[in-house]
Amino acid sequence: MKRVVIIIILAVVLMISCSHFREEYSPTSGFPAEEIRVNRYNISCYFDQVEKLLKGYQHLTYYNNEETILEDLYMHLYPNAFEKEDAAPFEPFEQGSAYPEGFNTGFINIDNVRVEGQRGDWEYKSSDREVLIIRLSDPIGPGESVEVDICFTVKFPHCFGRFGYGENTVKAANWYPIAAVFDHNGWNLDPYHEIGDPFYSDVADYRVSLVLPKGYTVASTGEVLKNRRHYGENREWTMQAEKVRDFAWIAAEDFSVGSKKTDGTTVRSYYFDKGTGKKALEYAVDAVSIFNECFGKYPYKNYSVVAADFFVGGMEYPNLVLISKELYNIERLFTLEYITVHETAHQWWYGIVGSNQVGEAWLDEGLTEYSTILYFEKKYGPDTAKGLFENLIKKRYYEYVAAAEEGPGANIQGTLEEYRDSEQYHTLVYCGGALIFQNLRDIMGDEKFFRVLEVYYRNYAFQNATAEDFIRIIENMGDNSLGERIREWLVMGF
Ligand SMILES: [Zn+2]
Repeated sequence: MKRVVIIIILAVVLMISCSHFREEYSPTSGFPAEEIRVNRYNISCYFDQVEKLLKGYQHLTYYNNEETILEDLYMHLYPNAFEKEDAAPFEPFEQGSAYPEGFNTGFINIDNVRVEGQRGDWEYKSSDREVLIIRLSDPIGPGESVEVDICFTVKFPHCFGRFGYGENTVKAANWYPIAAVFDHNGWNLDPYHEIGDPFYSDVADYRVSLVLPKGYTVASTGEVLKNRRHYGENREWTMQAEKVRDFAWIAAEDFSVGSKKTDGTTVRSYYFDKGTGKKALEYAVDAVSIFNECFGKYPYKNYSVVAADFFVGGMEYPNLVLISKELYNIERLFTLEYITVHETAHQWWYGIVGSNQVGEAWLDEGLTEYSTILYFEKKYGPDTAKGLFENLIKKRYYEYVAAAEEGPGANIQGTLEEYRDSEQYHTLVYCGGALIFQNLRDIMGDEKFFRVLEVYYRNYAFQNATAEDFIRIIENMGDNSLGERIREWLVMGF
């Protein structure tokens, strides 16, 4: 995610290419994730536009890719974070922007669960109903799978956060029961949080059919299939996605759509204002093309940048990002560009290479913020990038840390709950994280630095990486002391 910030643009245009980094890199391994069997979601749903209710039926094939027997299956029910006003995932100063017409409830109810065709034994984990526990009568052994059917009802809130509806758009983000990640820490059941992007998931395959009124256009993760069926005043949209770590869709009655193909990916811009909507498309196309060169190719056929009733700036989902429609304004083009590029960089760092965004947010946000600076370097030249880095990242970080009451120690690697507010979170995680990557580049030199990013991308594509995984790549290149320095920066700052 990226919040809107006041930004000064420095306009020296000088194109340089990063293609020479690629020539020096020969991959040592392909995508190991090809051997992992990914979960499969098949979701059919009907959206009632009047009541803003969605009736869903989900068939999940869940694979146990761990070396342990799983007795239960845990799933996140994120819409329930929006059920009660006092627990809604916004900071106090955000409430008015999130609910401009006052609080409006949103939730998900589980109506029925079946496991392997039999009545399922299930319960909500706690009174906030944010986690569903399914108790398995036949535990799943390593390498085994289980078939689960879930019927559910979702109420969309009138809300300008990630999930809900506004004047123009219905935003289905974090909207269905999604399997929690089981990793070396066991099940990760962190709740929705008002700070950061509190999500952590495995890649999966999806097929989603959505019935909604004919007048709507749908932007989604994956690919919209051509065979749209009509049911009276409604139309069925069918979408398919492979190896993505979540599935989101946004619908609007008056979207305009522009598209352009780059390196085999069709980039689309969904917008309400023609002039700026086309600019968003241009930024996204350039970003995909630059990041393809710098990190490795985007493996999906579709990527969409979507204007939405969203007050926070931008938010990333696989193959789709939400951008606040307020940024589609000729006076705010630089912010539109910065945020579109930031969310596009997340396609690599969060989307393809996943990580725990609750426990190690710096790993995706720091690298994404630094990648955004790289885009400006490649597109407008090193002087522009340097100016942006100094003003938006370095200065902000050092001024904040100098004024902080708690003294030295920055805790760039904190969990979301450890941050006092979004300002502290942003400064330490985004700016502090980006500083780590700039420092690494300064110390290692361009050739080695970009090789580290390419190896990180190749080795962890479609998986979840940890900070230690990233550090290990550097150590494996013979830089043991540099690994120690990163660990120190993460705790102590600079
Ligand atoms: Zn972000």
